[in-house]
Amino acid sequence: MNTDIFTAHESNVRRYGPSFPTVFTKALGATIWDETGKPFIDFLVGSGALNYGHNNPTIMAPAIEYLAGGNILLSLDMYTAAKRDFIEAFVDGILKPRGLSYKIQFPGPTGTNANEAALALARKYTGRSSVMAFTNAYHGMSLGSLAVSGSASTRELGGVARHDVIRVPYDGYANQAFDSAIYIDVVLGDPGSGIEKPAAIILETIQAEGGMNTASAAWLTEIQRICRKHDVVLIVDDIQAGSGRTGDFFSFEFAKIEPDIVCLSKSLSGSGNPLSIVLIRPDMDIWKPGEHSGTFRGNNLAFTTAGAMCKMWSERQFTAGVERTATNLQRHLDHLVAKFPKCIEQKRGRGLMTGLKCRSQAVVGRVHDLAFENGLLIESSGPNRDVIKVLPPITISDDELDHGIAILDHALKEQANGG
Ligand SMILES: *Cc1c(COP(=O)(O)O)cnc(C)c1O
Repeated sequence: MNTDIFTAHESNVRRYGPSFPTVFTKALGATIWDETGKPFIDFLVGSGALNYGHNNPTIMAPAIEYLAGGNILLSLDMYTAAKRDFIEAFVDGILKPRGLSYKIQFPGPTGTNANEAALALARKYTGRSSVMAFTNAYHGMSLGSLAVSGSASTRELGGVARHDVIRVPYDGYANQAFDSAIYIDVVLGDPGSGIEKPAAIILETIQAEGGMNTASAAWLTEIQRICRKHDVVLIVDDIQAGSGRTGDFFSFEFAKIEPDIVCLSKSLSGSGNPLSIVLIRPDMDIWKPGEHSGTFRGNNLAFTTAGAMCKMWSERQFTAGVERTATNLQRHLDHLVAKFPKCIEQKRGRGLMTGLKCRSQAVVGRVHDLAFENGLLIESSGPNRDVIKVLPPITISDDELDHGIAILDHALKEQANGG
């Protein structure tokens, strides 16, 4: 396998290339192939950007037609038919059935673009400068998003000071007995706490990069109540946990909360094409025309595939399939936890957003390499990189899921034997 060109010319910043040292070419569903034709089951799915699998035929068919038809691809934020179709599909297929009514902002195409827009809007709306963010949060790589992220290496990046962030413990951070929602409520209500009232609280319902930590429904409900009580904007960064990953379209549906602002990206286009939106409580949409901008706000190919993805959520067969796959995945992981107590500490996550907290980073490193050799792509997360992220496509077939889990099982066994 010739990877010389990458070694010679690509920056040292590359990470996944060296960790999966082969050259990939084709992909379909949960399987991707390298140049030699070797198949790999993909439990990495573009870090959550390919929830609907690679080249999902239902999603790609309208895109192929769109491309072949000479239709407009880039349109800034002009009105296009593709964008109209997407908004219609999103409102009718996703928002309305869930009783939600948000205004939709199209920022630049990346997740961090959406978070920056959300933070800017919350600061503008409240006139306050600071934001409350959680331990082990990950919100992206631009300065505003970096500031609210938790990891030390991430926060130090760029070498400039990060102001206006109040760090608070996530649900279950210290221990299960310490309720950080109570703490937040108290400090916001106490003029002697030394903590100023923030513009917003930004959170992930599951911290994927932070180690697949989950927030409970009760805690999320409490945080929403506290935000409303203290007049603070609640921003849910649903960039990785949303767009179907937990088994529901939004990751917060199980808690029955309605955030003021929701950020979506990663799997939103359904195809791996970059697309982001910021959902805004209608009375908070105080942007002036053109006040927030970005060249790539009009990715019409992504609108086309995103529209097809939204329509899938109205099909009973699709949602039932996702539900069943989530149950199967959880059962598989329970089995692995029971079988390998020396390697695995606990199962983490919810729905199809899952992880295995292992006893050490070394275990995860060996399992990663053995899995790769045997045809499975996984990645690690957490501040100590000791969590195996298990993110199969939510549309994965039973055969592919069984096969991927079997490779993981085998890798866990081999690593325990010192392999
Ligand atoms: C990936 C991710 C981001 C950043 O998205 P980019 O497209 O990489 O800018 C932000 N928040 C969460 C929760 C993410 O998983």
